[in-house]
Amino acid sequence: MASLCTRIAFKPSHRNAVFSCVRLATTYTDPKELATGLEKREIINEELGKDPDPYGLAVKRGPGTKDKPNLIPSAFESRVIGCICDDESSHINWMWLHKGTPTRCGCGYWFKLVEKPAL
Ligand SMILES: [Zn+2]
Repeated sequence: MASLCTRIAFKPSHRNAVFSCVRLATTYTDPKELATGLEKREIINEELGKDPDPYGLAVKRGPGTKDKPNLIPSAFESRVIGCICDDESSHINWMWLHKGTPTRCGCGYWFKLVEKPAL
């Protein structure tokens, strides 16, 4: 019996341990509740059936000639755009576009800034 008492005396106490049961949520929050700013406006526009990308963040190039340049919408006087000149290119050619001045990329495509009202 003495040995049992000794074992109990040296046994670590479990009183300091805290156990809690947490139930993990199996549903995710609606992205609309987490989004803010421009991202939230895009989600709302998409729900309303409007263009979710009104400023053409990803525009496919058209003919891009000097007479018929690729039109890039902007609510500002200037905008930075990136041209992936070649499909196999590993870099993006960044350039400024200014209102009223068509700009030619090094690959030969022309771009022109067109006014688009702010959302
Ligand atoms: Zn280019």
